[in-house]
Amino acid sequence: MAKLIHIDMDCFFAAVEMRDHPQWRDIPLAIGGSAERRGVIATCNYPARKYGIHSAMSTAQALKRCPHLKLVKGRMARYVEESRRIREIFSRYTDQIEPLSLDEAYLDVTDSDLFHGSATLIAEDIRRAIVEETGLTASAGVAPCKFVAKIASDMNKPDGLFTVTPEQLDGFVSALELRAIPGVGKVTWEKLQGMGLFTCADVRAYPFDKLVRRFGKFGLALWQRAHGQDERRVNATRQRKSVGAEVTLPEDVHSFEQCWEVVETLYGKLHQRLQSCQENLAIQSQGIKIKFADFVQTTAEHRQHRLDKEAFVPLLHQALSRQQGRGIRLVGVSVALPTEADSQQLNLALPSLECRSA
Ligand SMILES: [Mg+2]
Repeated sequence: MAKLIHIDMDCFFAAVEMRDHPQWRDIPLAIGGSAERRGVIATCNYPARKYGIHSAMSTAQALKRCPHLKLVKGRMARYVEESRRIREIFSRYTDQIEPLSLDEAYLDVTDSDLFHGSATLIAEDIRRAIVEETGLTASAGVAPCKFVAKIASDMNKPDGLFTVTPEQLDGFVSALELRAIPGVGKVTWEKLQGMGLFTCADVRAYPFDKLVRRFGKFGLALWQRAHGQDERRVNATRQRKSVGAEVTLPEDVHSFEQCWEVVETLYGKLHQRLQSCQENLAIQSQGIKIKFADFVQTTAEHRQHRLDKEAFVPLLHQALSRQQGRGIRLVGVSVALPTEADSQQLNLALPSLECRSA
């Protein structure tokens, strides 16, 4: 059986702020957008949770529950930097790492010889290294499959660890409340309760075909989870994908203006292609490619969170600074898409920090 670890940092953004500002350690603290700008809470610390504040709650409501709440704007760049340090720690134990977001990852240590192959001891050592080197705490779940590892990391949170061994798997899952299963949201949980289904044991006793008729594909997944089945592997090979458009010109051009005209035409196509696979136009970087008459090509790119036509201007200047009198035979524009982990974090963190009215 597989040995998986799910690591989840404890109230990550808030923890980083508390570490960097010790005066905020013991007071209710939240990262979020301002109430005036219809902001939302991204993360809060444990003292704030005592007031019933939680992530995704509107800042206005959070302030109603706790008027002396210390509200701070997030520092995304800082969190990304911390996230990199933590991933570097993971990489000392295995290369089978699947980040889910900045503060969460699955690790597959099935083939590891560290600590005589004990995933629990490996997880403990990772938690120790994280605290020692970053001053931040993490919780860990150890289990033979993904969804149980994820649930387990929540069992002794914060700063805790919980292991479900292969022998314990069946009993652990059987007693689980269905709402604990990732993917079972509030609405589904209510529907399930209405059908008399509260725990995985209830689902096991329910006729399979009725479940699938009612829920379709989700019914099948639910039935599998209820039996402790989760075949999903730790996916460490996520490729950064890109989208682009380029054109070989009917005859060579020479000036910035001529190239820019081509970029403008390509931009329309790029925009359309990006929109078809990335509705919010979120990207990782955008770039320009130029092929000169002698077939030597050059590229220029920079990091950017949203596609922006004007951002191609300096990139084109940069690429053409290497022209050395040569004609230009091909112009291309492209964007690198965020990884699934990046875009989840963007959706989660950026709009929450500030709800813009556009
Ligand atoms: Mg977390």
